[in-house]
Amino acid sequence: LAAASASGPAWSQPAGTSQAADTGLRQAAGYYRFRIGEIEVTAVHDGFVRHPLEGLIRNVEFPQVQEAMREAFLSPDALDITFTALVIRNGGRLMVIDAGNGDFGPPTPGHFGASTSDQPGPYTGQWLTNFLAAGFDPNRVDTVLVSHFHADHINGLRRKNGSFLFPNAEVMVPSVEWAFWMDDGRMNQAPDPMKGTFRQARRVFGPIAATVRPYEAGQEVAPGVTAVAAPGHTPGHTAFMIASGSSKLLMMTDTSNHPALFVRHPEWSPVFDMDPDTARQTRVRLLDMAASERAQVSFYHAPFPATGHIAREGSGFRFVPVQWSLAI
Ligand SMILES: [Zn+2]
Repeated sequence: LAAASASGPAWSQPAGTSQAADTGLRQAAGYYRFRIGEIEVTAVHDGFVRHPLEGLIRNVEFPQVQEAMREAFLSPDALDITFTALVIRNGGRLMVIDAGNGDFGPPTPGHFGASTSDQPGPYTGQWLTNFLAAGFDPNRVDTVLVSHFHADHINGLRRKNGSFLFPNAEVMVPSVEWAFWMDDGRMNQAPDPMKGTFRQARRVFGPIAATVRPYEAGQEVAPGVTAVAAPGHTPGHTAFMIASGSSKLLMMTDTSNHPALFVRHPEWSPVFDMDPDTARQTRVRLLDMAASERAQVSFYHAPFPATGHIAREGSGFRFVPVQWSLAI
């Protein structure tokens, strides 16, 4: 464990609430477009949060986790967890799949995917800025497809002031997720930190509860977009297969967090997975499917633009990012 204290100065803050220092410099807008057959996909970046590495993984000794981070040339003290959602344009239809943290803070460690802060950032809440920079208009969105009810996926849908960001969209949610998080009895029996996730779901979806459309795994939720059951991270956590012609993209959502840890070692369990055993089975099943089919994949928490392929390596897998291309 001695190595933990021997890290470089940029990472020397104590674990807990450490954040990256703001240099005042800014990147270009964080969006990246690519095609899956006839479907136009845009990865839209929301930013990142710096999470202490210690305590991140339940079932592995900390030095082993640090070694995996060193192998990937990452910090042995903290993990920058990035947020990247997808926007799908197919024919005349515009769909967003999740929408970042909005004007709330990212999920608080140990709070079951709930944000306990009504202040974004300093490096989150960039989804809308980047969505607009990519030339999109929230008023033109036809469908909002929700993968699961964690803060970093749903808080962007409704501003703090109560207004819904996509006034003309049909909102689709996993039926299993809805049944779990909108159950008042379950909320009342949940441990206190977890109650925040139940309340968060009510803040975002409560005012539109009558019009929200639940969907089932296996259902084609929009032309070319099929919901894939991916339980474990949350009860109704969902991945999506986006297909056009012979091309396909498996949006794995939070089936894996950072690939250097959980694609490389799919049996490792991040504390964010509510049912670790089920989440592990889901992770191995979907990674195996992606590797066998040579399908392109996207992840919500992979380094931007968060898309690539899955190769087999040793007892695990390896994430191979796509090559950035000027051609769309
Ligand atoms: Zn997430």
